[in-house]
Amino acid sequence: MRSWSIPVGRLFGVDVRIHLTFLILPIFIFWTEYAAHQGNVNGTRDLALAGIILACVAAHECGHMFVARRFGMIPKAVILLPLTGVTLYDEPPAEKPQPAPLLWKREIRVAVVGPLVNLALASLAAAVITATGRGIELWKTPFLQPANLPRSLVWANLYLALLNLMPAYPLDGGRIQRAIFSRTLDTSAATRRAVSISNAIAMVLMLAGLFSDSWLTMVGVIVFSAAQLEERALVFQSVLDNVRLEEVMLTDFATLSPADTLEDALEKAVHSLQDDFPVVRGSDMVGVISKQRILDALRAEGNGYVQAVMNKIFEVSFRQESLGSAFRKLTSRNSSIIPVVEDQRLVGIVTLQNVMHSIALLAESRKLRRDESEP
Ligand SMILES: [Zn+2]
Repeated sequence: MRSWSIPVGRLFGVDVRIHLTFLILPIFIFWTEYAAHQGNVNGTRDLALAGIILACVAAHECGHMFVARRFGMIPKAVILLPLTGVTLYDEPPAEKPQPAPLLWKREIRVAVVGPLVNLALASLAAAVITATGRGIELWKTPFLQPANLPRSLVWANLYLALLNLMPAYPLDGGRIQRAIFSRTLDTSAATRRAVSISNAIAMVLMLAGLFSDSWLTMVGVIVFSAAQLEERALVFQSVLDNVRLEEVMLTDFATLSPADTLEDALEKAVHSLQDDFPVVRGSDMVGVISKQRILDALRAEGNGYVQAVMNKIFEVSFRQESLGSAFRKLTSRNSSIIPVVEDQRLVGIVTLQNVMHSIALLAESRKLRRDESEP
């Protein structure tokens, strides 16, 4: 998801990114204006309208973040989409998981505040416009129009509040719905049910838009793609949590000895598919080394011993550990191999290459199994 967004700065210590779908918005406004006014359009005003919508979405997300902070969640980055935003939170410490009843109440409170911010902004803008009495007719259609930016400000906020309350996950209304489902279902089943309702709503919107207002089609497309993104993240997460290392670790692997010369090590590496090797003395694990490290050392200092260039600080895992835990160890240490040990004996290895590969395969096979079990 991150790769589809571009960083635009920081706000209250949170990285702000704009999703590429946001670039569709000015084009879409320009195109509807072009069609409505036979080619007579004002590009600056079109951009200003897109800017207003962006600012309203940003204000909406700020609302979510402030409340989330009060519940001890740490917002790390926010991605703005044309209709909604997605806030990524730092992982809460795994040692103290929240009890479920608190979680669903928290989810509802965090969700509700976004639309409330937009309602407040709409009322404020309407009040200011009425007070200044410039003769801006708030109730005249089209409500969203580059030619009338003050009126658009009021209606953009009203639309954002109403649209986000639709029970279409991952919009706020859908999150509230999922929180209610999660009182009786586990998180993944609750999300799955919320996503299927959301897909149905997206379909109806896309179809309805074809016969009436094309804005509806656009909303449908955004809801649909956002739901797909969330569901994929969920499958990924459930694979990480439920798969044990013994199910995916490599048991047939090559090892090196600290007494091997770098040239010998390279020779062995060439004949193996592995990129990373455990270094073993007798039955003891003494280090890890990568093919790249061997090459770099050979280039820089000529031939030497594995002992001198191997990485002596490394994490080990156990058979029963979850894939997620190994994945966190790999990424936090910036390493690419984790030895799996049992009674201090090396029984397998897990490499970044092999983890990514297994996740993709397992996610696919789980999806297949689920599609079969669901009629
Ligand atoms: Zn929201």
